[in-house]
Amino acid sequence: MTLDNFNNDNLSRLLMSQGTELEELYRQAKQTKEQVVGNNVYYRGLIEYSNRCTKNCFYCGVRRGNKNVKRYTLTDDEVLEAALLAHRNNFGSLVLQSGERNDKIFVEKIAFLLSQIRNATHGELHVTLSLGEQTAETLKLWRRNGAHRYLLRIETSNRELYQKMHPNDSLHSFDKRLDALKLLQYCDYQTGTGVMIGLPFQTISHLADDLLFIRNHNIDMVGMGPYIEHEETHLYKYRHLLLPADERFELSMKMVALLRIIMPDINIAATTAMQTLHPKGREKALTVGANVIMPNLTPLKYREGYQLYANKPNLHEETESHLANLKVSIESAGCKVAIGEWGDPLHYFNRQQNIKKE
Ligand code: SAM
Ligand code: SF4
Repeated sequence: MTLDNFNNDNLSRLLMSQGTELEELYRQAKQTKEQVVGNNVYYRGLIEYSNRCTKNCFYCGVRRGNKNVKRYTLTDDEVLEAALLAHRNNFGSLVLQSGERNDKIFVEKIAFLLSQIRNATHGELHVTLSLGEQTAETLKLWRRNGAHRYLLRIETSNRELYQKMHPNDSLHSFDKRLDALKLLQYCDYQTGTGVMIGLPFQTISHLADDLLFIRNHNIDMVGMGPYIEHEETHLYKYRHLLLPADERFELSMKMVALLRIIMPDINIAATTAMQTLHPKGREKALTVGANVIMPNLTPLKYREGYQLYANKPNLHEETESHLANLKVSIESAGCKVAIGEWGDPLHYFNRQQNIKKE
């Protein structure tokens, strides 16, 4: 396998590899990961803070227009309890995720929660936000109040495909999403993005471009996984166009492996969507380049309400038993859970060094 030249043709060809060529791809990705970021797996405790959303993305089960969803927002105490659970279990970090809102009440509430978390955990818990597109003013406020990282998936780097996946209005503009992503770096966040893999109308060449997009935008961390259909969304009518689940899973594995090879020093999440399509999906992702797992710390009573897609796992499992099982399966994948470490992406620091040199 040669990948000296990262271009669309080479990446597309490798995304279609099978047999010994595919084995070689996975072997190289594993080796690159071990050499550059090691065998540690970093936990980010996931809090699905609220399923209230102002947007109507065509793929997402909690989109504004889905009237069958019971809307919820965690109380301040519930957020704090989940943060303390992560701290007690020596997680280095927490992810606060929700539907997108830009109103003043929401912005100030997040700022308040960030400072509460920082005080309660003596600044020992790093916080990642995944709250959609926001203004520079909001991002700076949240950064001052203790947020370190931000995850905003571009969903697909192809403008036409993005437009097919979203309503045609200014709220769902590709350019706005791109600007919002760039703003994260400008506001000094460790910056994460990602894409969905196996969307209807998506081609192998689109996915190769997604990998190049992530590289060209100097991204520090990536969460990407298979697209999974949801009955109460617009895209459900195109389900006949989808690859079968096992092929969508394999394509996601190839994307993770190639990304590790072309960006050796970033953090890559083994996503819940991968686990949805394969019971050992997250562990498999760890063996081809992923180094981050996001255990779900959302209180059980809310989990039914955060169904982005069908068959989302761990809807009923208790958190403590979930963590015990997870540790065993991570070790069975030959990795080690990193206790009490932030696990910041090396790429962020390398990027900062390069900015200073310029
Ligand atoms: N609302 C914020 C946003 O969109 O950036 C953050 C939360 S949103 C639920 C997190 C991610 O879920 C999205 O970026 C999208 O990639 C993913 N997602 C939504 N629906 C999905 C589906 N049907 N299959 C796979 N991933 C999905
Ligand atoms: Fe809202 Fe995010 Fe779902 Fe889009 S993907 S509908 S912004 S929660």
